[in-house]
Amino acid sequence: HAKSKGKNTFHTFTEELFLTVHAREKTKRALQFALEHAEFELYYQPQLKGERLVGVEALLRWNSASLGSVRPDEFIALAEDTGLIFPIGQWVLEQACRQAAIWKEAGRPLRIAVNISPRQFAHPEFLSQVMNCLRINNLPGDLLEIELTERLVIQDLQAAAAKIKQLLHIGVKVSLDDFGAGHSSISYLMTLPVSALKIDRNFVRNAERSKSGQQMIQAITAIAQAMDVHVVAEGVETEAQLTLVSSLGCEVVQGFLLSRPITVEQLERWRLENH
Ligand code: C2E
Ligand code: MG
Ligand code: MG
Ligand code: MG
Repeated sequence: HAKSKGKNTFHTFTEELFLTVHAREKTKRALQFALEHAEFELYYQPQLKGERLVGVEALLRWNSASLGSVRPDEFIALAEDTGLIFPIGQWVLEQACRQAAIWKEAGRPLRIAVNISPRQFAHPEFLSQVMNCLRINNLPGDLLEIELTERLVIQDLQAAAAKIKQLLHIGVKVSLDDFGAGHSSISYLMTLPVSALKIDRNFVRNAERSKSGQQMIQAITAIAQAMDVHVVAEGVETEAQLTLVSSLGCEVVQGFLLSRPITVEQLERWRLENH
């Protein structure tokens, strides 16, 4: 950023723009490098129903040789803009399916939820990509879950609904991520045959602070019940939040209180210790 260059340096708009473009170019090149040099890794965050581990969410980690560790929020959008999300998303899907197959073959099956970006989901090859991953790894569909955001679904509701149906048909679970954070309406939602709603963590935070925050969660769980879908509470950080969201009807919880996203090795140890 221009400010970090020092108080006496004045940057024109064009210079500012150049710096931004330059930073984007640098990140884009670093992303390409990352794909070729295996700098990505999947971490897994446990999802619990009571004491029982019901699944994990795969979360992408990037340890870049040139940029250090970069969080997904800082590079996923750029990856989408540049189209690099296609090879990156493909890698994530393959990696997750491979891991799910390893756990299944070891007699400890565990469902893995994978975040899918809007462009990746919209791609005409997306379904065959999923089916290939399942087939190659001899993985039943119900050990894979796809997380979609509302933003994506609303762009082309009919197409999204049709694709979701096809996923469900092969046994793959589909959930709506960051639910409530976007601009969903109940009527949109009713046309989508999803398996679960993931309540955005801001709702969890607000519920602790206000009565109306609690009522929001109650409203969401009521909608979910009417649709016959599960509810997952995201970002549960404290015992108080856990007690609260459970009492408000969230069956499955995910958050730092239970576990941060961890490596495969750490998850193996976690499973041995907790289950
Ligand atoms: P998300 O799918 O909503 O994932 C949950 C995010 O919340 C993760 O951030 C997770 O580390 C964080 N989190 C979990 N529990 C807690 C908690 O108790 N407190 C707090 N403060 N945070 C918690 P992360 O890993 O940085 O990922 C950010 C977002 O990047 C994800 O949000 C998802 O939208 C996207 N993303 C991550 N991996 C992938 C991927 O493989 N593909 C795509 N397309 N997007 C991804
Ligand atoms: Mg997610
Ligand atoms: Mg989320
Ligand atoms: Mg999010």
